[in-house]
Amino acid sequence: AFPASTVPQAPEDPLFGLMAAYKRDTSEKKVDLGIGAYRDDNAKPWVLPVVKKADDILRNDPNLNHEYLPIAGLPEFTSASQKLIFGSDSQAIKDGRVASIQAISGTGSLHLGALFLRKFYNPANPPSIYLSNPTWANHHQIFTNVSLQLAHYPYFSPQTRGLDFTGMLAAISAAPTGSIILLHACAHNPTGVDPTQAQWTQIADVMEQKGLFPFFDNAYQGFASGDLDRDAWAIRHFVARGFELLVAQSYAKNFGLYGERAGCFHYVAPATASAADASRVASQLAILQRSEISNPPAYGARIASTVLNNGALFAEWKENLTTMSGRLIGMRAELRGLLEKKGTPGTWNHVTDQIGMFSFTGLSEKQVGLLREKWHVYMTKNGRASVAGLNSRNVEYVAEAIDDVVR
Ligand code: PLP
Repeated sequence: AFPASTVPQAPEDPLFGLMAAYKRDTSEKKVDLGIGAYRDDNAKPWVLPVVKKADDILRNDPNLNHEYLPIAGLPEFTSASQKLIFGSDSQAIKDGRVASIQAISGTGSLHLGALFLRKFYNPANPPSIYLSNPTWANHHQIFTNVSLQLAHYPYFSPQTRGLDFTGMLAAISAAPTGSIILLHACAHNPTGVDPTQAQWTQIADVMEQKGLFPFFDNAYQGFASGDLDRDAWAIRHFVARGFELLVAQSYAKNFGLYGERAGCFHYVAPATASAADASRVASQLAILQRSEISNPPAYGARIASTVLNNGALFAEWKENLTTMSGRLIGMRAELRGLLEKKGTPGTWNHVTDQIGMFSFTGLSEKQVGLLREKWHVYMTKNGRASVAGLNSRNVEYVAEAIDDVVR
């Protein structure tokens, strides 16, 4: 018999523990700054109006059925996904150097990439993958699950609550040739801190000199700044320079399609390679996909594809993106303004300097605990606050709570 008695109890996922504690809290004042999903000004999940329209179009289509998608996914979805991330005039796409396969949102794309790397990138002596410190917690397990060695590069400076660019660059420069460097394309999770375009250029310089391999996690395109092209700048810069690289693309945040698991994994062959390289990679990705999930889920990809391939809907999507990013940027400004007005000890410019879903507040674990016990304000113990949990009715209360716990 299977010795289940030897299976150790796993620790509870800290985020789920936090969510459960929030649910149990009966205070009317409670505020959820843990959640990694967009909320509107009424603290409710938001179905993007353009997603509703696409949903109506699909539901009224008499030809819609529930057959399997092809192994590589919905072709019009993967081709639109390429254009979205690499740009519609991308030379790499024109050259046929991009191999793309629909995957289970961002997580599944990262996993497929991890599996692919482990199987084909020097399997006898695989390179390490360098993760930012800190990073999205799931990155650790996604790569260790396929037995890739982890290494880390400094990312966040607690002093400035901004990028530790010197530390980052030094660690990347010291990485052995061929190492994989995982980079957050924009809206870094958990810090909300991104390199500037000049800094990205320097990162690319070092990676080019050292022969390092970029793997971009692209979970927030358009959701960060509201501008799809701006949020894709780093990836397009690396591709234009001819790098061979990988991209894990998620539609969870920018379409609000969290539970539909729409995403796409891309391999880009170097500028010196030909379409044949991408096509061999695509053939292997299809085999991996087949054994992992057979074929990807259809509905979310159909929704995204309906919008991405229709000019009017695409324009409307951009407006929806501006609504989300604009609300978050506005909440940052309001929180910072309130803290500065109160003269709350410390500096608060990082609240507006950071971007995306999260703010790395710089609050200590003790302060986070106090926020929760005394004020019913919930965030992860590393001081990461989901800006999406702020709204016009609770931002003053949250500012008052933060002011109290830092004094
Ligand atoms: N990568 C980062 C940095 C994230 O923050 C997330 C979601 O929180 C993901 C990937 C994957 O999300 P999903 O699998 O829902 O697309």
